[in-house]
Amino acid sequence: MNGVWQKAGDRIRDALGQTGYETWIGPLTFVGLQDKTATIEAPNRFFRDWVNDRYLDLIRQTISAEAGEPVEIKLTLGNDSNGNGNGHGNDHAKTSGNRVAATPAPLAEPECRGFHPHLSQRHTFAEFVVGSSNQFAHAAALAVANQPGEKYNPLFIYGGVGLGKTHLATAISHHLWATGSRARKILFMSAEAFMNELISSLRRDRMGEFKEKFRRVDALILDDVQFLAGRERTQEEFFHTFNSLHSERHQIVLTSDKVPRDIPGLEERLRNRFESGLIADIAPPDLETRVAIVQKKAALENLSLPPEVTLYVAQNVSSNVRELEGCLTRLAALASISKSAITPEFALQALRDLIRTHEIKPDVEAIQKTVSDFFHIRLAELKSKRRPQHIAFCRQVAMYLCRKLTDSSFPAIGTAFGRDHSTVIHACNLIARRISNDSAFRFSIEKVERELKATHASAA
Ligand code: ADP
Ligand code: MG
Repeated sequence: MNGVWQKAGDRIRDALGQTGYETWIGPLTFVGLQDKTATIEAPNRFFRDWVNDRYLDLIRQTISAEAGEPVEIKLTLGNDSNGNGNGHGNDHAKTSGNRVAATPAPLAEPECRGFHPHLSQRHTFAEFVVGSSNQFAHAAALAVANQPGEKYNPLFIYGGVGLGKTHLATAISHHLWATGSRARKILFMSAEAFMNELISSLRRDRMGEFKEKFRRVDALILDDVQFLAGRERTQEEFFHTFNSLHSERHQIVLTSDKVPRDIPGLEERLRNRFESGLIADIAPPDLETRVAIVQKKAALENLSLPPEVTLYVAQNVSSNVRELEGCLTRLAALASISKSAITPEFALQALRDLIRTHEIKPDVEAIQKTVSDFFHIRLAELKSKRRPQHIAFCRQVAMYLCRKLTDSSFPAIGTAFGRDHSTVIHACNLIARRISNDSAFRFSIEKVERELKATHASAA
């Protein structure tokens, strides 16, 4: 069964990033999987509480996915660490003994606390920071949460990794759950979990139950539907589920890292359904929003951060909110372990590895390559003297991005394209104007930028 843990580990690493993984998951020991319960040992109480508060859902979901059935997680303490608390005196990592055992809360008799019992309590509207990059998606999510099934159905939220899609989808779920007048069934799950349930029902010849379960919910929130790409059987079943819910005006919320038309191998009829409601995008947050996010998260964690540190983190981690959180987590952990205050020097030292990767900017060559891939033209064409309209246009986009994302001067960019600096200036002006006049175009350019950042983050 160690294989399950190993495979789950790989996915968790994808989700948390290498550093987060090493810091929090690496020190855990997988004890075994029995009676649908995986026992995992933490080296001390501090770890156990931290992992329990933040990563339990993730661990449960990935292990369940690997095991092919729902698995509960039991986090235990290593023998020699009972009661020894690095965690003592650490307010934000309070022990909550009974939550550690992680038995599923019964859905039937919910205590009315305003949280859906199975979902992360940190992902509520109250904890979501709104900025220009996400205000549309946020407003749409709120509208759906307040008037499910009425306004935008389905709501399709898309955006890059770690930008708050799951957070918003979870917030909708909590809100629907807390405000429902009747005993509402709110089902939030990943598209992958949907597929796993489907497969397991097929295998056990329980499709009747499966259909019954999904078609009876009052709202279905399906996270990461890009996962359905190329999975025909699952798409077919989901298509029927979708229609059945939609015709009853039950709310459907979908999230994805791509717009429907960019999900490869998505059946046309499903794509049409996905596009039939409201599509809202989340872009990477601007600096102001990042500062607000850092402040908010720090307050929630009882972390006192000097303004320089807040700004340092917000300035240097720009493409992904999850990584912003990773920095704070690291600061909190190190500060609590070493019992020191978070001074700017402390932060610089603590975040050295995390932040260095973000200082690497894409270079002109990387931009040329990404842009030509994006527009499906050859790199040689991009740099050639040829000037058919569409190639010239791609070249202008590439020049614009070089100017925006690198420190290269106009003449240097010109040289890289075999042109002079005035051509580059002209291109930059042209593209900038078009971006401000044409929001669809702006989306595309932002997408290229995101891709550049993503390629870079993984290369670093
Ligand atoms: P995605 O599903 O888009 O990959 P998540 O919703 O999992 O991203 O977000 C990653 C982390 O960043 C979560 O912990 C989430 O709470 C946080 N986050 C993202 N956007 C915001 C925001 N606008 N305000 C507060 N937290 C955010
Ligand atoms: Mg997500």
